[in-house]
Amino acid sequence: MSGKKKSEETTPEDTVLLSGAPEHDISKDKISRGGKAQRRLRRYNIRMLIASVVVLMTLCGVLLVRIQDLNGTIGNMASQIARLTGVAAQQQEELELLRTMTEELSAALEEKLSGGGKDAAGKKDGQAGEKSVEASTPGITAAHKVYLTFDDGPSDNTEEVLEILDRYGVKATFFVVGNQAEQEEEMLKKIVEAGHTLGMHSYSHKYSELYASVDSFAEDFTKMQDYLEEVTGVKSLVYRFPGGSSNTISEIDMKEFARYLDGQGVRFFDWNISSGDGGSYLFPAETLIENCTKNVSKYSTSVILMHDSASKSTTLEALPTIIETIQDMEDTVILPITSETTPVQHIKWQENEG
Ligand SMILES: [Zn+2]
Repeated sequence: MSGKKKSEETTPEDTVLLSGAPEHDISKDKISRGGKAQRRLRRYNIRMLIASVVVLMTLCGVLLVRIQDLNGTIGNMASQIARLTGVAAQQQEELELLRTMTEELSAALEEKLSGGGKDAAGKKDGQAGEKSVEASTPGITAAHKVYLTFDDGPSDNTEEVLEILDRYGVKATFFVVGNQAEQEEEMLKKIVEAGHTLGMHSYSHKYSELYASVDSFAEDFTKMQDYLEEVTGVKSLVYRFPGGSSNTISEIDMKEFARYLDGQGVRFFDWNISSGDGGSYLFPAETLIENCTKNVSKYSTSVILMHDSASKSTTLEALPTIIETIQDMEDTVILPITSETTPVQHIKWQENEG
């Protein structure tokens, strides 16, 4: 008991403390110590904040520098690309110049060799050259003869096809059909007036009727030939079978129809180059251009199959480039088909051909 009591009494040390520092001073001290700690904490926080801001600003600075670096690099690359493009264009120009010079030289050489009878010089200035060549020299001696042919017209596209052909001074061949031609007689006349060849592609274009028998074929043929002569005054002497002579739809041997035409003094023409515009899928102009031009230099005679019908918009789109590309080819001429043209035929039908 006494121990506990003693502990409740003030010890000598306490007395000293108490005498030196009164009770309210102790709490003040405590408060001031707490304030100091708080101030320190606040200072610490401020310092941390400043440090963070400094770090962030440094990072931002670094980032900005990096972005500027990248910008500079991109700018450099862009200017390099521009420079390379310029170089490429310049080289293209030089190539073009060289090509023109080569063409001119070969034209001059050819002219000298053949005594000026060739069309090479005329070929250069396109339109007038081609026109006069055709008019003056029907038995043209170019190494590569190209025949542009349009099946199934006349159509809503015919006028534009004629306009493009005229622009390039090119004559083509239209294998027209009769059932449409009745509403398109003006176009038939325009085809003939412009100097193109009007060919027959049957009156009905209905395989089942046309190829039912030689008699039905003959009937359709006569109707078509008479009709065209009635409208245009020209007797057509060239023919293209719907589906070509190699079609697998006719149950009658196509040779029989071929012989019938021969008996009428009419020559039929298939094709050895197909533009690819015949199907229901509309190929882009680029594909048609590629199809029409890639093999021309391999053949002495190229008969190119295209279609003149309202749905064939990419054919119209491709036609100018097709013509330009062919006109730029060495020793190559675009001509209309005539009854003297070397035929391109898919089937052998003459007796001596087997
Ligand atoms: Zn057809």
